[in-house]
Amino acid sequence: MKERSLKNTQPLRAVDSGLSASVRYLKGVGPQTAEKLARLGIRQVWDLFFHLPLRYQDRTQIVPIGALVAGEEVLVQGEVQASDIRFGRRRMLLTRISDGTGSLTLRFFHFTARQQAGLQRGTWLRCYGEVRHGQATLELAHPEYHEIEPHQPLPDDARLTPIYPTTEGVRQATMRTLTDQALMRLQQQPLLADFSDASAEDGLQELLPNEVLAQLQLPPLAEAIDYVHRPPVEASLHDLAEGRHPAQQRLAFEELLAQQLSMQQLREKNRAQRGPRIEVAGELRQRLLSQLPFSLTAAQQRVVAEVIRDMQQDHPMQRLVQGDVGCGKTVVAVLAVLQAVEAGYQAVVMAPTELLAEQHRQNFAQWLAPLGIELEWLSGKSKGKVRSAALEKIRSGEAQVVVGTHALFQQEVVFARLGFVVVDEQHRFGVHQRLALREKGRQQGIFPHQLIMTATPIPRTLAMTAYADLDSSVIDELPPGRKPVETVVLQDSRRGEVVQRVHQACLNGSQAYWVCTLIEESETLQCQAAQDTAAQLAAALPDLRVALIHGRLKPQEKETIMATFKQGDIDLLVATTVIEVGVDVPNASLMVIENAERLGLAQLHQLRGRVGRGSEKSNCVLMYHGPLSEQGKARLAAMRETNDGFEIARRDLALRGPGEILGTRQTGELQFRIADIVRDQAMVPEVNRTAALLVQQHPQRVTAIIRRWLGEAARYGDV
Ligand code: ADP
Ligand code: MG
Repeated sequence: MKERSLKNTQPLRAVDSGLSASVRYLKGVGPQTAEKLARLGIRQVWDLFFHLPLRYQDRTQIVPIGALVAGEEVLVQGEVQASDIRFGRRRMLLTRISDGTGSLTLRFFHFTARQQAGLQRGTWLRCYGEVRHGQATLELAHPEYHEIEPHQPLPDDARLTPIYPTTEGVRQATMRTLTDQALMRLQQQPLLADFSDASAEDGLQELLPNEVLAQLQLPPLAEAIDYVHRPPVEASLHDLAEGRHPAQQRLAFEELLAQQLSMQQLREKNRAQRGPRIEVAGELRQRLLSQLPFSLTAAQQRVVAEVIRDMQQDHPMQRLVQGDVGCGKTVVAVLAVLQAVEAGYQAVVMAPTELLAEQHRQNFAQWLAPLGIELEWLSGKSKGKVRSAALEKIRSGEAQVVVGTHALFQQEVVFARLGFVVVDEQHRFGVHQRLALREKGRQQGIFPHQLIMTATPIPRTLAMTAYADLDSSVIDELPPGRKPVETVVLQDSRRGEVVQRVHQACLNGSQAYWVCTLIEESETLQCQAAQDTAAQLAAALPDLRVALIHGRLKPQEKETIMATFKQGDIDLLVATTVIEVGVDVPNASLMVIENAERLGLAQLHQLRGRVGRGSEKSNCVLMYHGPLSEQGKARLAAMRETNDGFEIARRDLALRGPGEILGTRQTGELQFRIADIVRDQAMVPEVNRTAALLVQQHPQRVTAIIRRWLGEAARYGDV
């Protein structure tokens, strides 16, 4: 804020033809436009280079009116035959033009008297717009247009027309004249071929080392910029739309590099901070291990060792643990928690939902109680005396381990001696939230260790990008004896067969889940639907014990139902997606998911992970309500074809993009200007190598690249 107002009050020098000059020096930019441009992150002339087109239009060819096809965006020209105002339901101006090959109607709903006067018979117009079917002729609704000389040819230096992301009050035409001016300056001011601090003042620097450019066969910066802003006529609109032209790839590479470098800076910053050094004999850990009914898999052992090693450092651990559904992440977290507790620190375990938190509470209680460890529970729903008692125990240090929802940190919770934080995140946390969390855990300049667990795997490239500020551990092995779940996909017209199948399985001694899904956000409606389904199934299968579980039941009721199901005293459990996480009943070997097309891949995979936990071979029936969209088909096919969570995550990324998967679509995190994690994933390893090279050999360029691409957003560290 301060910076901006300073800039605006500074008197402008008479001329400044450089690239670092304020945009105020460009023609057509007054204080108001400058203010609006600043909202787009454009303050200096060179910022315009990195404000990249969203797409392109071909205005390099005039299409004869007789050859128009509805649905295409075209440039046409012709002579006005007639202009009339129509008074229908709405007043509108209809202008008919002709070029000798046919005639076309221009339809305007908003127009001024002056505009109308300019559309007299005999005037020649050049127009751009989307062709639609009209009543008598084809039409352009609200085309862009301007007056021309009769039969005036196009200038022969025509380029494709970029469409820029913009903001209210800044028109495309303005963006184009501004980039025109900036590109002109770029031509006059050749690119600074090599980075040197002395010349850093005003030119546009090539920040990628020559060896990298040569190796990747990417064009130099100035060339790439010129191309993406003003592609030549012969450029393929299709290639450009796909973002695969080398000029685009050149910029995407640099953008990914900027993102990577900024995450690494964060990581460095973290390294410089102090954390609680936790070096203990591991007695509690050994005691728990000896009580477990199983031994850890090799992958679990490796990850536990990685975590313990991190906790022995005197800077705070920032580690991501991922692994497929059912690989046993919880026990890894518990073992780490025990290290902290043994060292006299408090540990906190946070889950994204009440239900998952509740599940963790049960698991932790079952493991910690025999060791005599005090467990406290705190959620958004804890109220009154219960709440204040919990808060007091946390403050006094009596509570050694605290389990709760993320609300834990939003409330006034004071810890006596917090040393370790486990975040079970279901992909809902972004960098900013992680940092905010870390800040809150700070006490006397010491930051607690953080372990972040994801509920389902994240594709490697995405993890390398979105979680580059963290160290990463992967549990790449399932406990022995797990049998892959067989999945079938059926249309809901075959519901009757599915009900019979459930019947048969239960008569054979298995147990089954029937999961109801509903698009509606409303929990009430979801529960209603599940209630109806449960009633129908109970009526259709009178010899089975059918029960219902959903999110609106009291925790006590839910616990009772789950316990009964676990004991085998319920055959068929009808549920909403509340059973997505945590539920663990090995004898359940059949799952039916209704309206499976409504759920994302990660969620389906989580749900399916509730079966296949026992010695019986398990089945999953995905019932859909047709017709399926292409994406819907691809999603269900993925579920049928593989049980591998990492593979499913890769397909999910390709189908839905990173924003949906990480849940950051709204927050804008990981929204690139030109890079696309899915399209550009092959670059990521090279980006990371280049990042390391820059840090080692060209440290001055690191800041410059980050500032160029991320500007103010790069200052994650200042949360
Ligand atoms: P997730 O990684 O999906 O969170 P959980 O931690 O819930 O998985 O573990 C799934 C189930 O596997 C739990 O019942 C847990 O007790 C059990 N489990 C964990 N590790 C092992 C192991 N090494 N051998 C056998 N069972 C295990
Ligand atoms: Mg889990």
